[in-house]
Amino acid sequence: MNVTHLHCSACGKHYEARRLHNLCECGKPLLTAYDLEAASQTLTKDSLKSREKTLWRYREVLPLDDDRNRICLGEGMTPLLKAERLGAQLGLTNLYIKDESLNPTASFKARGMAVAISMAKELGVEKLAVPSAGNAAGALAAYAAKAGLPAFIFMPQDTPLANIIECQQMGAHVTLIDGLITDCGKIVAERKTAEGWFDVSTLKEPYRLEGKKTMGYELAEQFDWQLPEVILYPTGGGTGLIGMWKAFDEMEKMGWIDGKRPRMISVQAEGCAPIVKAFAAGANTGVDIPDAHTVASGLRVPKAVGDFIMLDILRQSGGNGFAIPDAELLAAVKEIAAAEGIFVAPEGGACLPALQQMIANNEVDQDERVVIFNTGSGLKYLECFGEVAR
Ligand SMILES: *Cc1c(COP(=O)(O)O)cnc(C)c1O
Ligand SMILES: [Zn+2]
Repeated sequence: MNVTHLHCSACGKHYEARRLHNLCECGKPLLTAYDLEAASQTLTKDSLKSREKTLWRYREVLPLDDDRNRICLGEGMTPLLKAERLGAQLGLTNLYIKDESLNPTASFKARGMAVAISMAKELGVEKLAVPSAGNAAGALAAYAAKAGLPAFIFMPQDTPLANIIECQQMGAHVTLIDGLITDCGKIVAERKTAEGWFDVSTLKEPYRLEGKKTMGYELAEQFDWQLPEVILYPTGGGTGLIGMWKAFDEMEKMGWIDGKRPRMISVQAEGCAPIVKAFAAGANTGVDIPDAHTVASGLRVPKAVGDFIMLDILRQSGGNGFAIPDAELLAAVKEIAAAEGIFVAPEGGACLPALQQMIANNEVDQDERVVIFNTGSGLKYLECFGEVAR
C-alpha cells in the first residue's frame, strides 16, 4: 500500500515494489521499505483503538495493495498474558507470555503466511511450495486452501504427526523426506522453475517477514507504547526476531516509540543452536550444524539465510543466546502449563530454562518487563510427551 521499494539486507541493492521477488541476486534476504510518513497519516495510535482484532489493523504498514486479495483467517492480535504465578516462582514481578498459539493453525507461522499468500495472490502466483519442519507447512496449507491455490510441501519424515495430517486434510501435496529441512529446501530450489512453484521459504520471499513484524507492533500497543526490557524468542529461521526489530524501527520513525530497545534473547535447542553458538563465538554468520536434532521442530533450522541479521540484532540490543537441551525444554512445557494454563509448544517451553539461566547470571532485574514468546501449541507435538498411563 505504502511500499516504496525493496532493498537487500546485505548489499543494499534496490528492487521494484509490486513484482515477485525471492532473494537478492547476492543471495541474501530482501526487506520491504514504506513511505512511513504517508502511512502515519491514517495509521495512528488513536485510530488503532477501533480497528479489527487481526494483524490487518496495521494495514498501512503491510505490503498488500488491494484488499480484495487479502487472505485472512483471523491471524494476529494474540493475548499478552501476565504470568503471575510463574513470575512469582521465578521472583519476577512483570513476566508476560505472548501467546501465539491462538493464531489460526495454532502457531505464529499464520502471521507470515497470511501476508505472503495474500501478496502471492495479488502478484499472480499460481502454485506455492515450501520446505518446512512443521508449522510453516500447516500455515501454508491453510492459507493456500483459503486462496484456492495448490501448495506443494516438503517435510522431514520426523515432522510432528499433527503437521503432516493437517496439511493432508487441507488438500496440500505433501512429500515426506528422509533428511533435514535444508534437504527439503534443496528439493524445492531444484524443482521450482520446472514446476512453476513460487518458493515461500523463510526469508526467501520478502512478505512472511512483514506478517511476522506485526508481533512487534502488537507488543508496543499492548504495553501502551513502552517496549518491554527483555524479549525471549525461540529462534529458527529468525523471521520473528528480524521482523520485530524492523517494526520497532518503523514505529520509531513514525514517532510512536523512543530509541530504547528490548534486550533480544535468542533461545535455541542444544541439538541445533547455530545462532547461539555463533553469538558466543563472536561470529557474524551461523555455525554449521551437521546433525541437527531436537523435538522442537520449529528450532530445527541448521542454516538460516538471515543469520547475519539476527546476530547483529542480538549484539545491537545487548541481548544474548541460550541453547537448551530437549529434556529441559520439554520439562519446562509442564512447568509453564501447570502454572499458567497455557499448553505451550516445546519451542515456547525452551524460553523458561533460558530465563532461569538469565536470573542465575543476574542478567535480569526482578521488576523488568520480560516477555516469553509462546510461538505455538503443545497440541501439535503430542508424541513428544511420551506414553500416557491409562
Ligand atoms: C517456526 C517456529 C519457530 C521459529 O520461528 P522463526 O521466526 O523462523 O525463528 C519457533 N517456534 C515455533 C512453534 C515455530 O513453528
Ligand atoms: Zn544483495
